Amino acid sequence: MNEICAMQSCTGCNLCASVCPKQCISFSREYKGHLYPVIDQSNCIDCKKCTKNCIANNKQILKYGATYGCYAAWHKDEAEQYESASGGLATAISRYVIRQGGKVYGCAWNDKLEAVHIGIESEHELEKLRKSKYSLSKVSRETFEDIKTEVKSGRLCLFIGVACQCDSVRKYVGDGYNNLIIIDLLCHGGASPVIFKEHIQYLCKKHRLKNINNITFRGGDYDCRLALRNGNEVKYLGYQYEDEYFLGFMSHVLYRQSCFACQYASRERVGDITLADFWGLDEEIVKKYDFHKRGVNLLMVNTERGNAVFEAIKPEINFLVRNIEEAIAGNETLQCPTPIPEKYELFWENMKTYSFEKAMHMTYKEEYDKIKVNKIKRNFIAPLRLIKHRILKKLL
Ligand SMILES: Cc1cc2nc3c(=O)[nH]c(=O)nc-3n(C[C@H](O)[C@H](O)[C@H](O)COP(=O)(O)OP(=O)(O)OC[C@H]3O[C@@H](n4cnc5c(N)ncnc54)[C@H](O)[C@@H]3O)c2cc1C
Ligand code: SF4
Ligand code: SF4
Ligand code: SF4
Repeated sequence: MNEICAMQSCTGCNLCASVCPKQCISFSREYKGHLYPVIDQSNCIDCKKCTKNCIANNKQILKYGATYGCYAAWHKDEAEQYESASGGLATAISRYVIRQGGKVYGCAWNDKLEAVHIGIESEHELEKLRKSKYSLSKVSRETFEDIKTEVKSGRLCLFIGVACQCDSVRKYVGDGYNNLIIIDLLCHGGASPVIFKEHIQYLCKKHRLKNINNITFRGGDYDCRLALRNGNEVKYLGYQYEDEYFLGFMSHVLYRQSCFACQYASRERVGDITLADFWGLDEEIVKKYDFHKRGVNLLMVNTERGNAVFEAIKPEINFLVRNIEEAIAGNETLQCPTPIPEKYELFWENMKTYSFEKAMHMTYKEEYDKIKVNKIKRNFIAPLRLIKHRILKKLL
């Protein structure tokens, strides 16, 4: 056995390594910032479990797709809504599952600041999962095993992740368990965990940051900015289109190759529930409910199981019935995979010669020149105008 699936189709879901009876698959091959499976030939017994289970070799027949309704939804508690990535639905559903004595699997930072999936059982741990981590998260073999053990024991379990992760978990556990709820998040693409880690190290060194133990991209006071924190205290702030990593995520050059042909980028879904930002929501509604300030979820209820969860959390949330066509028109991910960006090859060519940060500046030179001008305006001209305004006010 040499290759489990075509390299450009591999999502990095880790299912192959999790089903291998000889544990002889490691993610040790790096290509364009992402890790790919390598088989230790000396231990492989050619059982083909990896290829048979691989989600890239078995095109999932996606069914559901808002069969039980499409909604704009948000948490009734304004603080929960404000602090979350969108409207706080993932947190609301997670809390419901924990209150039922269940276990929730979602993405958190580990102590090395890597995005990983963990299982939580108490409400005070919900903070670990809240907010989007824009780095492709790892679902370890231990986590796959733990989900299966808990589900088989009859415990209510919730898995939240991007669609390829949801597919691999469903495949690993097997269909036919009513006590496993799966929520897939709409996703443009998974960004490089390798470059993310190196960039955080670069920032810590450059700005002499110590004790960084939390990172946020979305939700709360610094929504859409890269915030490096010690607890909640912000030690570094990078604007969405200035910080090299955030720009690399937004411009898609850091995505895994499989994302440009993602089999889940369609109105048909893999989860019992689909959550996303409700892009394209009627502007009158956005203004009426102040969604520019506090986010709102697109909520697609796809299965009977998903509908039972929706009914159970109704007292905690506000929702408006919407037409799925409105959601599809506003969110490209419900139509087709993200196209390869124009500057993708140029960026990776630059990466052969320069550090990541320098390669970004070489690739996005025009954008960074504009940013320089904006920074001067922000840091010098705007304060000068303010001083002038104050002096004039005093004189008059
Ligand atoms: C990598 C990524 C890309 C996304 N891209 C889009 C997009 O293109 N368009 C769009 O409309 N929506 C996108 N989303 C979904 C959106 O940003 C919100 O995650 C979603 O609407 C849920 O918001 P919430 O307020 O309910 O979540 P919260 O209540 O804040 O909870 C966040 C949830 O996200 C999960 N999560 C966080 N980071 C990751 C990660 N790296 N991998 C897997 N799960 C994670 C956590 O487990 C948690 O359950 C993306 C999310 C992620 C994680
Ligand atoms: S063929 Fe079997 S033993 Fe070999 S890598 Fe795949 S799962 Fe492991
Ligand atoms: S798609 Fe998943 S199961 Fe298939 S080779 Fe890649 S990591 Fe393994
Ligand atoms: S775009 Fe598709 S393949 Fe890429 S991380 Fe998202 S769900 Fe997975």
